[in-house]
Amino acid sequence: MRRIALLLPLLATLAACGAIPDGRQSEPLRRSTQHFTPRPEARACLASLGKTNASFTPLPDQYYGSGCSALNAVKLESLRGDYSRLGVGNLGPVTCPLAETFAAWARFGVDRAARQMLGSPLARIETMGSYNCRTVAGSSRLSAHATANAIDIGAFVLADGRRISVQGGWNSGTSQERAFLHAIHQSACKRFGTVLGPAYNAAHHDHFHLELSGRSFCR
Ligand SMILES: [Zn+2]
Repeated sequence: MRRIALLLPLLATLAACGAIPDGRQSEPLRRSTQHFTPRPEARACLASLGKTNASFTPLPDQYYGSGCSALNAVKLESLRGDYSRLGVGNLGPVTCPLAETFAAWARFGVDRAARQMLGSPLARIETMGSYNCRTVAGSSRLSAHATANAIDIGAFVLADGRRISVQGGWNSGTSQERAFLHAIHQSACKRFGTVLGPAYNAAHHDHFHLELSGRSFCR
């Protein structure tokens, strides 16, 4: 009973700021929300993420074996831009701290850069996923994706309908599109510990890899 009592104020807070979505689910997830109570350290992050006006569902901790897990993770439905909501496509579970940093970058880094450099607000970020139980390509080290601690981003869709992909825009887009992609790559480097893009290696020719861990590894 005590755990439930502790959870109620959080749920009230999240509901009040619109952070708890209405149960729409675009893709199946292994989850069991029955009897699910976020751990205390997780609750602080969930409350903080709620303050960004992100729409999300907290997920129960999951251990998948082989060192793979999704702990303190959320399913992000949408984020808040300066003037409108920002869609997030194809994103699986991400850890709450990563989601919080992603929400701030999407609004203050990407949405504002889109308006200033391309003349249109951002409408949607198309991702290429987050959780994936795998090693870093070419090594035996577990990828940050194996713990839901990384997001791959393939493209940005503007409110005017333009779609700027990392693959098409990094080298071959218009000068404004190239400048936009390079600017938001740089702004990501200020917020995330590791940012990898097409300049890093061929494996990243079509996306930005964003993760919190690492010390300003920006390529
Ligand atoms: Zn990645």
